[in-house]
Amino acid sequence: MSKTAIIFGAGGQDGSYLSELLLEKEYDIVGVSRRTSTNNTERISHLLDDPGFTLVEGDILDPSSINTIISSYKPDEVYNLAAQSFVAVSFQQPSFTFQVDTIGVINILESIRTISPKTKILQASTSEMFGNNFTEENPEFVPYTLPNNGYNPDGSKYKNTTVKFQDENTPFAPRSPYAIAKLASHHLIYTYREAYDLFASASIMFNHESSRRGEEFVTRKITKYIGSLVIGSHRELGSSRDQYYTINKDDEKFEPLRLGNLDAKRDWGHAIDFVKAMYLMLQQDKPDDYVICTGKTHSIREFLDVAFGYVGINDWSDYVLIDPEFYRPAEVDYLCGRANKAEEKLGWRPKITFEELVKGMVESDVEKYSVLPF
Ligand code: NAP
Ligand code: GDP
Repeated sequence: MSKTAIIFGAGGQDGSYLSELLLEKEYDIVGVSRRTSTNNTERISHLLDDPGFTLVEGDILDPSSINTIISSYKPDEVYNLAAQSFVAVSFQQPSFTFQVDTIGVINILESIRTISPKTKILQASTSEMFGNNFTEENPEFVPYTLPNNGYNPDGSKYKNTTVKFQDENTPFAPRSPYAIAKLASHHLIYTYREAYDLFASASIMFNHESSRRGEEFVTRKITKYIGSLVIGSHRELGSSRDQYYTINKDDEKFEPLRLGNLDAKRDWGHAIDFVKAMYLMLQQDKPDDYVICTGKTHSIREFLDVAFGYVGINDWSDYVLIDPEFYRPAEVDYLCGRANKAEEKLGWRPKITFEELVKGMVESDVEKYSVLPF
């Protein structure tokens, strides 16, 4: 018999990929999306006619709608991906963020506890909970954490270098209303697991992106801008490059891309890989929390290098303007996860590289936003 899964936040980036994954696994999926006056199901429009997918309206702030959905379906699994997920907005709307990202989670947990306690739940926690904390190790004692097993190309050992990372043992130190709200719900998941024996797990996910990422996040903001610069492309037979792009150099027509802090570092993976980890977490014998990440970190500058470089622009400085408006009141400077536990216990490893991620996002936004149709 096929399993039933409820996905809160089905219309979001992760919800859409998770729905595709679970449909492949022949789940019956109930996608929950809140009512809005404009279309918020664009990312799942290709799934709406699938007999395995049912879309229902519901808001995690409204306990009665959650109770109705949970009692109607008594699902095997619940994935709570619904959130006010943008850190910058959480500084402007802290109370709303807390409502959705914490009280919403309480509503779901209470509903499961009282109506369907055998239902397993996955909560989408975040690396933002670490704030500026990291764990530091001297690689002389753990040489496998460095490239080339800790040896320089000349055969000598790395010296006086430490590696900095976050894993399940790194203490949390949230630096935004978003991170605080997510940390509260992270603790709620643990508390309901311990207090009521619920199968409640949390994935501590580092940044993950895709062509479906919200356009206000820095990666998508960059690739959308690049897409709008491109006015044509062609392939060259026998060339090592796939594609050559023609850039609109009409300075008057294009405003520069306004960005904030370019020095922050993020561990960026692909959402397709991350939803597989969420699924695996609910297939375990016991509930637990796992860091989900790629283990590699890049600055915004490095993202700009790769993304602009992909369309043949090697110096992006003429296109980017630093605008204080996009600085955060408090920044998280460095995120670089270590997913050893997920690899050992779930057999999970990300497959899509940083370069493949950026390439896919640029290609998709060129197709979507370039001035001339391809
Ligand atoms: P997303 O694209 O912003 O999707 C969030 C979804 O939640 C949207 O479909 C949104 O619906 C829905 N939602 C918001 N408020 C709701 C409410 N009150 N009731 C019901 N649905 C509501 O986020 P994502 O990137 O897919 O991320 C999925 C989850 O992982 C989020 O919880 C996020 O905080 C967490 N996370 C993401 C990352 C990342 O890098 N992507 C990293 C760590 C953790 P509307 O379209 O109507 O707004
Ligand atoms: P976050 O890690 O969940 O906050 O994901 P974002 O994509 O919103 O931000 C990633 C990093 O990019 C943060 O350190 C931001 O301060 C930095 N950043 C720099 N300029 C911008 C910008 O214009 N928009 C956004 N969203 N982030 C920016």
